[in-house]
Amino acid sequence: MTLGVAPATRVATHCPYCALQCGQWVDGRGDVDGRQFPTNRGGLCQKGWTSGSLLAHPERLTTPLMRAARSEPLQPVGWDGALGHVARRLRELQAEHGPDAVAVFGAGGLTNEKAYLLGKFARVALGTSQIDYNGRFCMSSAAAAGNRAFGVDRGLPFPVTDLDEAEVVLLAGANVAETMPPLMGHLTNARLVVVDPRRTPTAERALASGGLHLQPVPGTDLVLALGMLHAAVVDGHVDGDYLAGRTTGFDDVWRIAQQWWPERAERVCGVPAADMRTVVGWLAGASRRYVLTARGAEQHAHGVDTVTSWINLALALGLPGRPGSGFGTVTGQGNGQGGREHGQKSDQLPGYRSISDPAARAHVAGVWGVDPDSLPGPGRSATELLAGLGRRDGPKALLVFGSNVLVSAPHTNAVAERLAALDLLVVADVLPGETAMAADVVLPVAQWAEEEGTMTNLEGRVLRRRRALRPPDGVRTDLEVIAGLADRLGVAGFPADPRAVFDELRAASAGGIADYSGITYDRLDAGEALHWPCPAPDHPGTPRLFTDRFAHPDGRARMVPVDHTPSAELPDAEHPLRATTGRVLVHYQSGAQTRRVAELAGIVPEAFVEVHPDTAARAGLADGDWARVVSRRGTAQARVRCVPSLRPDTVFLPFHFGAEQAANRVTNPALDPVSRMPEFKVCAVRLEPA
Ligand code: SF4
Repeated sequence: MTLGVAPATRVATHCPYCALQCGQWVDGRGDVDGRQFPTNRGGLCQKGWTSGSLLAHPERLTTPLMRAARSEPLQPVGWDGALGHVARRLRELQAEHGPDAVAVFGAGGLTNEKAYLLGKFARVALGTSQIDYNGRFCMSSAAAAGNRAFGVDRGLPFPVTDLDEAEVVLLAGANVAETMPPLMGHLTNARLVVVDPRRTPTAERALASGGLHLQPVPGTDLVLALGMLHAAVVDGHVDGDYLAGRTTGFDDVWRIAQQWWPERAERVCGVPAADMRTVVGWLAGASRRYVLTARGAEQHAHGVDTVTSWINLALALGLPGRPGSGFGTVTGQGNGQGGREHGQKSDQLPGYRSISDPAARAHVAGVWGVDPDSLPGPGRSATELLAGLGRRDGPKALLVFGSNVLVSAPHTNAVAERLAALDLLVVADVLPGETAMAADVVLPVAQWAEEEGTMTNLEGRVLRRRRALRPPDGVRTDLEVIAGLADRLGVAGFPADPRAVFDELRAASAGGIADYSGITYDRLDAGEALHWPCPAPDHPGTPRLFTDRFAHPDGRARMVPVDHTPSAELPDAEHPLRATTGRVLVHYQSGAQTRRVAELAGIVPEAFVEVHPDTAARAGLADGDWARVVSRRGTAQARVRCVPSLRPDTVFLPFHFGAEQAANRVTNPALDPVSRMPEFKVCAVRLEPA
């Protein structure tokens, strides 16, 4: 298979999937090999190894598609016809209903250039406030908690290689052995403690390392952290000098934590009090120790507070900003970090600026050559944006780039109703995912190995994505699509060249929290390792944050008092179990890509539900049976896997599957009040034989 460049040409790029952004070689045939890079040291997981098979996949979208009506099938159409139709309908709907009649939905997998240009397109070309992205589903609670505590949100404020020498690492709600296996290579010297309702492969590694697996009731991690903070204080492990010199707010935090002695916390979260004390002793007794959180802590209706509770524990022990120790968040999506910095989030402008800040609006408007007062926003968060589609005062058209909301959004039955109520749904995608196949217009776009750009990995390190192959005939890049639409809308200032877009991004981010102004393609191509902030061309970047001060004006981290709040939906007689969702090794996010890789689909071909054997028996189910998982919102079908190590009150569903197997048919769209992140990790269900 040759798609356009010399087959032997080998290009250094990065994996298309998760935030570890492992180094890859991709050649002109689309063959993939591991490449030495600090995060992966030459290794790739199965997803990365097989990613090349999607480049010439038989289902690849290679021509725009349109349908005359929802009842009609999608038909091939030329690019001029497709873009002209979309631009005309957008203007008609805005003329009739106002600028916010058009909404835009982006993704944490888009390059920095795409995220930036999409945000500018929404605010300048469309003049709509209605833009958000799927990162709201998977990282926004950690981002909000990090901003609140440290004054800046960068997932890991240190390079992953710092973890190599760690003695103790606590992973709260992070199953990295499955979601980003090469990261485990940085944890081989550490005693691991894993907080997870499931005995995941990461939890198994914790036990093998001489550590512990803490198995709380889903939705009670905050209580566990409070119990551990109580133990830290009572057992004399708090770092008083650090608290006095580098933090504020401990007294208010302690007023709550003192009510959660470990035995009381145990009654709520189910983790033995002795284990809480043991783990706190390990963390306090080591000189190199880390607390890391991920989706298990974040995807709750009180996810910001839950992450805050782990930050409070880390601060009490004196970890953040100390050489060889720290607190961090294991960001999930490929550009989860950069994707939340450059303006596709409803409340942000490039450089991690707030769209509500007059100075930020003035700076960005100056770069864009528009009046600051013309910039709309803030708009609605992702879940609220989707819930408003097609309603009297909601958007009538939606443009989706790089997201498959019919699988990945909570309460997908309701999302399907809202998409059906739209006058126009446009999806830019590489493969016929569920959302693309529901669209009125489908625009085929390039994949990672066919385009240039930058990504920002979980360490805040900016990376070059490089083109190894030409896209198939008929396919355009997302930047070309955005530029083409802007052109047809009669709005200038939308380059399609990635380097030109990045240079504009640099100017827009200058002086912001996430300042990229000193980062250039030339510096990255020369091999420099550049972590933001990097405010000048001769600045070396900032691999480690907080070594001297935190980013609040007084230089101190803020400890914020947080208390336990029950999950938004609790079990009852009709729905007696807690369902929690997550990922498996061989699939990525909505599965639109990995379900089409034969090698991966052969390993996990269908949805499953993990159930304790006793729980399955009570529901009349046995291992291998098909079950109906029923919540107050919908039903998902899944094959039963009996797992003796699972809590009997809990079931687990992977969320990679669509249609009747979609886990998000049952999930609860209850939102965190600060981050507006949905509660994917807990809802009440019952099991029935299918
Ligand atoms: Fe790709 Fe993540 Fe796997 Fe690395 S760990 S190969 S970045 S999916």
